[in-house]
Amino acid sequence: MVAVALKCPFCGSEDVRPYGTSNGKKRYACNNPACSHKTFYAEYTYNGCKPNVKKDIIKWAADGAGIRATARELGVSPDTVIKELKKKKSR
Ligand SMILES: [Zn+2]
Repeated sequence: MVAVALKCPFCGSEDVRPYGTSNGKKRYACNNPACSHKTFYAEYTYNGCKPNVKKDIIKWAADGAGIRATARELGVSPDTVIKELKKKKSR
């Protein structure tokens, strides 16, 4: 289980509640009245955190894709790609 500390991006409060989904993304609403109950999406800030992206990085590298092309296609930074490839080599 992944524990994600959800925070309202507007006030930083962790007092948030699920607010359904939109476009496949989970949506949350802030319970802070000062925030006028704004809604926001819970998203991974870094795609590199997603396990399937790591697998894709390895797969793309095996197919001979360049680091920059892989990063661009997967929506991660080149640093993330390099890090993953280094991890794989050290294994
Ligand atoms: Zn808020």
